[in-house]
Amino acid sequence: MSATILELTGVGKTFRSADGHLRPVLQDVDFHLRDGEIVALLGQSGSGKSTLLRIMAGLVKADHGQVRYRGQPLFGPARGISMVFQSFALFPWLTVQQNVELGLEARGMPKAEREKRAEAAIALIGLAGFEGALPRELSGGMRQRVGIARALVTEPDVLLMDEAFSALDVLTGERLREDILELWQDGGMPTKAMLVVSHNIEEAVLMADRVLIFASDPGRIRCQLSVQLPRPRNPESADVRALIDEVYALMTAGASRPGRGHGAVETGAAAPPLVERLPSADVARMDALLELLAEPPFNGRADLPPLSEESGLSDAELLPVAHALALLGLAQLDSGDLQITPLGRRYVEGPNELRRGLFGQQLMTHVPLIGHIRHSLEQEATGQLMDTPVRRLLSEHLNDEEADAVMKTAVSWARHGEVFEYDYNTGKLSVPDGDALT
Ligand code: ADP
Ligand code: MG
Repeated sequence: MSATILELTGVGKTFRSADGHLRPVLQDVDFHLRDGEIVALLGQSGSGKSTLLRIMAGLVKADHGQVRYRGQPLFGPARGISMVFQSFALFPWLTVQQNVELGLEARGMPKAEREKRAEAAIALIGLAGFEGALPRELSGGMRQRVGIARALVTEPDVLLMDEAFSALDVLTGERLREDILELWQDGGMPTKAMLVVSHNIEEAVLMADRVLIFASDPGRIRCQLSVQLPRPRNPESADVRALIDEVYALMTAGASRPGRGHGAVETGAAAPPLVERLPSADVARMDALLELLAEPPFNGRADLPPLSEESGLSDAELLPVAHALALLGLAQLDSGDLQITPLGRRYVEGPNELRRGLFGQQLMTHVPLIGHIRHSLEQEATGQLMDTPVRRLLSEHLNDEEADAVMKTAVSWARHGEVFEYDYNTGKLSVPDGDALT
């Protein structure tokens, strides 16, 4: 077995939310990154992946546990570890060359040496000839290459890539990924190990020797899958497709309440909490996916990869929709397959009013937050309420951005199910006109 470069034991991190509540974001994370390997990390947004990477890079301190880099406890940013972010804050007034050299300046390296190294890194990443260009003169893909050159110029031992390809269009992202893999394969870069956070299951399977699946609330490693295929890997090959299928299955196992991750399922926790992250799926997509699933060739049951292909939704888009359907009991997720339930069938086959009625009924029983809002509204003679208590409740558990996302999803679902109405301008919640539920 190869030497361990980076080692995390029992790492935990708690953040304080805006209203002062403590929220565990990472718990008991044990992880080894070994010489010569690429590891991919997949997990829901908000599960703590970026925080974990920052801890590994020494940019953020863990509250619990230990991080060792080449056997030594890590205190503060480590020289041998570089991070690539989703989008780079390149300095707009500096040229490509100057932006890349910045990575070295902090080290007090002589100017001539800095220039030489930056030129080499720029050439390595395919931008030779653009040294004098300003960021605004470059495409998004080229700017991201500058960011990667800035990370590589320090000749890092470990490269941590945080959704480095996800802000790019599909083809540009693929090109860049392939180029990085080629550099890695040819020994063109000095890096000994890479950890890649991705949103994209295919990307993870094409790149990594191991795929880790992260659970949320608190974030921890749920399981891993090793990928022993030689690189470059053909995304169309049966081996790759089978692995993608397997990862889908692992990511959706027991996932009817995805917001709470799987710890809750494993420990047999009882009632779902009032506040949970809701899969951000819009109703039109849920309807379209359920219709597609019901029809031939799927006839009610589909593997997620072909469903992704047929629906034109990427995995990152498909998974929340599938999770939402499962949460509402309209479909079931079972080892990477999505299967329509009898209720889901009634829903797709029904006229619009029936759909709305069924949807509303499922929201009341399966989404505690929506049930709670509705019950609170029914206590009011006017059938109206300000959103303040609901917002407060959300902010006890979630940060502002997440709270907004949950509210937005809950409102759009509740509107479709005619459970409640919400006016974003006035912050007023109300029972819908001509209410069918009371
Ligand atoms: P991911 O990268 O998986 O989307 P993050 O690591 O960015 O997740 O965030 C995990 C959780 O920690 C989120 O709820 C986020 O809001 C919260 N969080 C991250 N950084 C901070 C911080 N500095 N202060 C408070 N909360 C934070
Ligand atoms: Mg992140």
